[in-house]
Amino acid sequence: MLRWIDIIRFAKNVNPEPDQKVKKSDDEWRSLLTPEQYRVTRHKETERPFSSEMCSLFEPGKYACVCCHTPLFDSLEKFESGTGWPSFTQPLEENVIAYHEDLTFGMRRIETTCNVCEAHLGHVFQDGPEPSGLRYCINAAALEKVSGSDLKATFGGGCFWCTEAIFQQLEGVLKVESGYSGGKVVNPTYREVCSGLTGHAEVVQVIFDPSKISYEDLVRIHLATHDPTLMNRQGGDVGTQYRSIILTHSPEQERSANDIIREMQPSFERNIVTEVKPLDVFYRAEQHHQNYFLNNPDGGYCTAVISPKLEKFRKLFHEKLKKGEPG
Ligand SMILES: [Zn+2]
Repeated sequence: MLRWIDIIRFAKNVNPEPDQKVKKSDDEWRSLLTPEQYRVTRHKETERPFSSEMCSLFEPGKYACVCCHTPLFDSLEKFESGTGWPSFTQPLEENVIAYHEDLTFGMRRIETTCNVCEAHLGHVFQDGPEPSGLRYCINAAALEKVSGSDLKATFGGGCFWCTEAIFQQLEGVLKVESGYSGGKVVNPTYREVCSGLTGHAEVVQVIFDPSKISYEDLVRIHLATHDPTLMNRQGGDVGTQYRSIILTHSPEQERSANDIIREMQPSFERNIVTEVKPLDVFYRAEQHHQNYFLNNPDGGYCTAVISPKLEKFRKLFHEKLKKGEPG
């Protein structure tokens, strides 16, 4: 998740590298766009507030750059800011947006542009909702709505270094973040969660494409890759922070999770004790806990605990793995 400190860094030094660039002449853009789209995206104009219905549109889907059609935002990150411009808390990927210091009109602002075609989009401010605190204030004229939305799922099953490494390998999983959830303490640290007193569990939040992998399959894989019959522990990790938990993002997910637990119960000798409850807040863990296994493959815990677990998982679910990964 991007935070204000990242935005400042990008605006001052170097913007994230895009996967590709699209370049067209001014005349080409003019011929491809409506006059308003052209003025906003190619000449940095700002549309009148409340001039588009897109502000109050919250149906699932993605928002792409109107010029080059690169997906920029997901409706999951859209919120009602009351400003009259579509507002988002995060871009889809770190490298789809570029940031530039903008000193026009006697203000110091951070301009956002499409990192692929340099279309002006709007600005980003640091008064958005938690946890990112960001508000991407974007001209509706710079965006087009495209169908298809990614979904979120949140799972805990022991140490999040393990859980993250497993979900990262699945086809259809676009992003995995390690964090804390299920307890009461606001903005907990790793040290606090390790004390076992915050009520939080170590969890991973998964963003997935439901056309490639179903929520039900994610739940099946989660239950099969840790021991959901153990109360408050996994292997040598003991404490409520290691409990088996599924935090649901919708009533449908809650129903599915309970259905799959019933479906899989016969394959376990003891009762499944996995807690299923609606997600309240997900707190992203400290940066050095992200991609832990990928960044520390030779670490003691990784070779002793995670590698053997991953090997078993890859055999069991080989048809669900990302293509082109070493098997
Ligand atoms: Zn673009």
